[in-house]
Amino acid sequence: MTSPFRPLVIAALAGAATISPTAANSQVSPPGTPTAARTILAIGAHAGDMELTTGAVLLGAHQRGDRVVLLHLTLGEGGNPKLTPAAYGAQKRHEAQDVAAALGAEVLFGPYKDGEIPNDEAARRYVADVIRQVKPTIVFTHWKESLHKDHAITSAIVQDAVLLSVLPGVQLAHPAHRGVRAVWYADNWEDATDFTPYVYVKVTDQIAAWRDAVSKYEFARGAIANFPYVDYYTALATVRGAVVYKGQAVAFAVEPEARRRVLDSLP
Ligand SMILES: [Zn+2]
Repeated sequence: MTSPFRPLVIAALAGAATISPTAANSQVSPPGTPTAARTILAIGAHAGDMELTTGAVLLGAHQRGDRVVLLHLTLGEGGNPKLTPAAYGAQKRHEAQDVAAALGAEVLFGPYKDGEIPNDEAARRYVADVIRQVKPTIVFTHWKESLHKDHAITSAIVQDAVLLSVLPGVQLAHPAHRGVRAVWYADNWEDATDFTPYVYVKVTDQIAAWRDAVSKYEFARGAIANFPYVDYYTALATVRGAVVYKGQAVAFAVEPEARRRVLDSLP
């Protein structure tokens, strides 16, 4: 469908390479340009956040030859009333490694504690240096409004870190990286306030394998917090996909100033 009133739908992130490389938060142009392999960096507050919300897209990217890297700022180790944070953190680390392997992703762990991600400059510099090290083409993270303060803080940290990663005058361990073409915000039930889907990525062919992958997290199976995460995000993919006539899809928000299309002539 080519109606300009349809939400932008991207098959396997095909439009990503058409984004202006000059502005990290400028966003997608219409899809269709052949693309080289990309690096996708998904940055979440807790192990599990990015895999549940964006994992099917990450798997699709891996399948087409992209490099996929997950950065969990914390293990999310505080969420199990039956285990100490140390014990549950060890479990989450193993689960995160298994899930990443199943999605074809590398995984990095940040130095922070669940519930205690600091909203400070040092955290921004830490994430900026990871961005410089990984050299992503596209960054996924949390939407800015959230029930969970770790999510909202992570969103703010990542947004600023992308800018710091670009600036050569900011001294970090790795040199400046100017290749981030877009920051896309994940569709998370905890981050729903003012979340407006903008980019839709078809994931019909990845849903089954994604379900198997994320089910390696005990919490995702609903066994800890009595929330059916895997079923919820499967249903959400069906809902998002239905409205764009694409089977199942994962939606992302973008910054308000990125919601623009620039055409040389009428489509
Ligand atoms: Zn979380």
